[in-house]
Amino acid sequence: MDNQANNPIKRIGVLTSGGDAPGMNAAIRAVVRACTYYGIQVYGIKRGYRGLLDGDMFEMNARSVSDIIYRGGTILQTARCHTFRSHEGIVKGKKMAEVFQLDALVVIGGDGSFKGALEIAREGLPVIGIPGTIDNDIGCTDYTIGFDTAMNTVRDAIDKIKDTASSHERCSFVEVMGRNAGYIAMNCAIAGGAEVCLIPEKPYNIDVDVVKKIIDCRNRGKHHYVVIVAEGVGGTMLLAEEVKNITGIETTATILGHIQRGGSPTVKDRVVAGMMGVKAVQCLKNGEVNKIIAYKGDKCVAIDIEEALAVQKQLDPDIILASEILNV
Ligand code: ATP
Repeated sequence: MDNQANNPIKRIGVLTSGGDAPGMNAAIRAVVRACTYYGIQVYGIKRGYRGLLDGDMFEMNARSVSDIIYRGGTILQTARCHTFRSHEGIVKGKKMAEVFQLDALVVIGGDGSFKGALEIAREGLPVIGIPGTIDNDIGCTDYTIGFDTAMNTVRDAIDKIKDTASSHERCSFVEVMGRNAGYIAMNCAIAGGAEVCLIPEKPYNIDVDVVKKIIDCRNRGKHHYVVIVAEGVGGTMLLAEEVKNITGIETTATILGHIQRGGSPTVKDRVVAGMMGVKAVQCLKNGEVNKIIAYKGDKCVAIDIEEALAVQKQLDPDIILASEILNV
């Protein structure tokens, strides 16, 4: 991929795409303010690639992003745009960028959004990606904007569920988001002191990995048991019912759902979003394009988009082991 812009970048578009994540607003703010600082014009594009195709965009300035740093969601809104998955859609997106004289596009979103960004870069529109998804499932980066806030929401829910579970001596099944990855589940199992954590990365056996562990806990005198189930495992309601039938212990199932996507972003999400947004604009200013801004060892680095998309992410075996040790 050609990693240099041929001409100086004078005007860019910024959009949010895919699932929303707390901290996306902080990232938009950072991009807009950094553009202001470096003398680059910036257009906010509404509803992700949908808005690009429709030409639904407006000029932003430092004031357009006042008072949004603490707000969840995205002021630009987001969407999943089916048309953009086709070559015709990509060509139309490139054409609309020409109509609005955009020299580059900053895409805040997940892996899918970056695949779209790569396709439009291949048509000749320079891009920069900023990882924004609660799932933390993007291979090239240690961290994605929204992950910490979502985990804190889950941790808070587990704490509350535990209070009521111990009063009734129940076993509580809690399903958390994360698509096909167990990052939220595993981290929150440790943070919430869960007895069992089921993740898509590790197949489980109901007798050995769930029922036996819960009975062991009961025999050790515990009054409540929390089982975290990752979205990628699913089937939480049925699982809770089955465990009740086998053990005779009362079970409840809670699907946390979209509350995990909302809320005011944590300090970590605001700071990472700020750093990534500034780094994205610095890259554009230096003519370094077609990159994903990755967070590596507390620093933001720019990685070639094709290389970045090829990196597979694996849940650290140490965290899986730690969770099992701490459950004992
Ligand atoms: P999240 O991880 O939060 O779901 P995401 O960015 O992975 O975020 P997707 O729904 O996969 O979410 O992708 C968002 C949008 O990116 C899609 O609706 C589509 O417009 C575009 N997109 C996804 N994959 C491609 C592709 N292969 N080619 C072109 N565009 C794509």
